[in-house]
Amino acid sequence: MSTLVHVALSIRRSARTSFGLFAAGVLWMLDVLGVFRGVLGLEHAVVAGAFVAVGVSRGVARARLEDGPRARREASLIDLELGLLMVGGTHAVVQALGGLDGPLYPMVYVVVAFLSAFARKPMGTVLVFSAIVLEGAIWQLGEPAVSFRAVALHSLFVLFFGVLNVLFTRAEIARVRERGRQERVEEQQRAEADLRLFRLVGAPSAEIAEDDGAQERSHRSSVYEVRDALYHVLDMLKRSLELHTCILLFSEPDGRLRIVELVTESDDVAEGPFDAGAGAVGAVASRGLMTNLERVKPGYKGLCYYRQASMVRAFMGVPVVENGHLRGALCVDRLEDRPFTPREEEVVKRAVGQALRAITNERVFVQLERSKREQAMLFKASQVLGAALNEDQVIDAGLAAAAGLARYDFAALTRFDPERRTHSVLRAVGEGAEQVAGLSFKDNASLTAMVVKNKHALPYRGEFDPRQQTLYTSKVKLADLRSVLVLPLVVREDAIGTLALAARRGEAFPDSVRPTLQVLANQLATSLSNARAVKRLEELATTDGLTGCLNKRSFLESLDGSMRRAERFQKKLSLLVTDIDHFKSVNDTYGHATGDVVIKELGAILTRMKRETDHVSRFGGEEFCVLCEETDTEGAVLLAERVREELEATVFQTEHGKLRVTCSIGVATYPKDAKTGSALFEITDKALYAAKHGGRNRVCTSKSV
Ligand code: GH3
Ligand code: MG
Ligand code: MG
Repeated sequence: MSTLVHVALSIRRSARTSFGLFAAGVLWMLDVLGVFRGVLGLEHAVVAGAFVAVGVSRGVARARLEDGPRARREASLIDLELGLLMVGGTHAVVQALGGLDGPLYPMVYVVVAFLSAFARKPMGTVLVFSAIVLEGAIWQLGEPAVSFRAVALHSLFVLFFGVLNVLFTRAEIARVRERGRQERVEEQQRAEADLRLFRLVGAPSAEIAEDDGAQERSHRSSVYEVRDALYHVLDMLKRSLELHTCILLFSEPDGRLRIVELVTESDDVAEGPFDAGAGAVGAVASRGLMTNLERVKPGYKGLCYYRQASMVRAFMGVPVVENGHLRGALCVDRLEDRPFTPREEEVVKRAVGQALRAITNERVFVQLERSKREQAMLFKASQVLGAALNEDQVIDAGLAAAAGLARYDFAALTRFDPERRTHSVLRAVGEGAEQVAGLSFKDNASLTAMVVKNKHALPYRGEFDPRQQTLYTSKVKLADLRSVLVLPLVVREDAIGTLALAARRGEAFPDSVRPTLQVLANQLATSLSNARAVKRLEELATTDGLTGCLNKRSFLESLDGSMRRAERFQKKLSLLVTDIDHFKSVNDTYGHATGDVVIKELGAILTRMKRETDHVSRFGGEEFCVLCEETDTEGAVLLAERVREELEATVFQTEHGKLRVTCSIGVATYPKDAKTGSALFEITDKALYAAKHGGRNRVCTSKSV
């Protein structure tokens, strides 16, 4: 059903479009035939009215289009129709009132200029050229008396107006866009300056990066709240003390005074910022002197917030002191020659207290909001970290959570090996990450090594000085990183590694965010060590501790799996069982420890010589099994011979002199010798027995059984 409606709608749409184009075509034909030449009758008015109606209906359709790629295509098409109709209509009027060299011809330039500026992109150009084509046709068929020079000149002008307008319009659009962008940047900078002025956040650029838009909105509303509260305090003061101006000024970090809020009758207040040292206001704001001036001479120039000499007769300035720090001044004045009384002085002082409380309240609110957000993020991070099953997943989750707390341009995790005293980079992301991927270095004086040693984050203030400090080694040069924070990954009492974050901007990891990052690092450390413990347990369950080969249990499992695969794909599968000759006497003569070395060496020889698809396992004692997939008896015997020769050639240095050992090996193959795993093992063991009986240090197959 909906498809039918769709089809019907698109037919209707294309019918309308083709009608618009059809109407334009007819109008052009009439132009070319010179129908409108010199006549202005009623019937012409009717025809013109009909074309105008078509044009208006297409214009309405164009205005109703919503946004979207299809609508944009349709808009271009309607622009073409309307443009063709307008060019045709203009030529009709020009023709009726004097022709191509008549007085109204410049109308064509106006229309072309309009169309080239406002029609959608390719259509503007199409219309400019179509205007030239139409004029050429009219000239050829309708008005050949007009000189070629005139027509050529017209075409040149049409082209000129078209191009000029396109350029102007595009330049204008670009200019407006740029201005809009600049205004947005300035507004953001103002908001950030306000945030700093009221100390609502530590360092706005480095705050939580989870949702910049939401954060910016919340910051802006905080600034608005503070401003609103301050305005009310000043307004009340102005009304109750009958003031001319009541103004609150704060010192900026550069020492200049900035207007925080003001209520005034005057239209002569300057925007600021002002030099703090100047006049009565300066004395209050920079020296913290309470000032009460009476009988001020008209024309007094000591009030910096007025553009010109003021006419105020009484002035009072109260220093704004927050936690023992001079922040600025609250200044009040009036035109009336009535000095401020001690009671009024008290009122102004109280207003200062109220203004500071408004700011403090909002500050507390912002901090609460932030810690709420941080808590939520940490909670989410700990859930993800808890769900991570292996080291890779833990690192992924940790880096993602860190990015949520503080935007970084580079991040890396290192692991510390306390036995070898080496740091190795487990993972690095961001700019310059490829330089440190896989890096391993001995304990040195780098930030990373110090952090592991002291279990304390570095550098202390988060500012990184590449001339004095190195992150890993002096060879690694991470470009343009002004902020670096290296956090220890501490599990119980030990630092198992570090999490380093770095950013190009300064003060990216301020004190406000460091404790939260450290909590994350602790969670990350615990999850990392858990993941490692799980991995170790898994290894212990499948491998043999002495040789690192698979153990008996995993051998039996892999025998099962290999048998099934061989059966299904009808492949051969060979098994080798090795046993060291007279091993008891090795133990008896050289000791158990030497016996272990020999077993380990045979394991190493087997692992070295096997193919990638073969499985070596220690079956027990000094016996090993090798499962060779897709291998027939000849191939397996070849491997067995090489192993036998290699062991025979190996000389062990022991306390009691040199030692050489040999081994015997049995070989059998599926499906030739046995059809099941246990049968295969049995026949191979028999082959080994045959090798022992045959004199040892040899390889035997099922043939000898
Ligand atoms: P044969 O040539 O007939 O194989 O004689 P053999 O002495 O090697 O006899 P067998 O294979 O039965 O001896 C296995 C010996 O291996 C028994 C045991 O003392 C020793 N053994 C088993 N496990 C270990 C181990 O983990 N370390 C050491 N050093 N010796 C082991
Ligand atoms: Mg044995
Ligand atoms: Mg033996």
